[in-house]
Amino acid sequence: MSRIRVFPYFPGLDIATVCYQCEKPKCVEACPVNAIKRDEKTQAISVNEGVCTACGSCTQACPAKAIFIHPTKNVAIKCDFCGGDPECVKHCPEQAVEFRLTPFDARLPPEQLAKDLAALILEAKK
Ligand code: SF4
Ligand code: SF4
Repeated sequence: MSRIRVFPYFPGLDIATVCYQCEKPKCVEACPVNAIKRDEKTQAISVNEGVCTACGSCTQACPAKAIFIHPTKNVAIKCDFCGGDPECVKHCPEQAVEFRLTPFDARLPPEQLAKDLAALILEAKK
């Protein structure tokens, strides 16, 4: 199941969102059972599915809505870099996905992130 999510921000503008691997992750702070940790090898924030109780606290805390409960496995899931070799990068037919650092501040609400992205696109087109 894809860990990239697409949200409609307003008519005609859908934006793909993925975890920003925050420096100070709100999902980690919110988890009552310490099921979310930074992977030492990949540095991705990752969920330990064996510990997760699917309480949903992390999904509420994440400013990007990038972590969610799997509909059948009943555990929280999020982008974990696929162990360091992301499947989305390999499978996107438009080659629209790259693996690189984001210039955005993931602590901002999604609406502000969308505005910042629109400004960046307009600037690039000048
Ligand atoms: S974007 Fe959300 S899921 Fe990703 S590390 Fe930050 S708070 Fe956690
Ligand atoms: S859903 Fe799982 S990972 Fe998220 S806060 Fe609850 S126990 Fe932690």
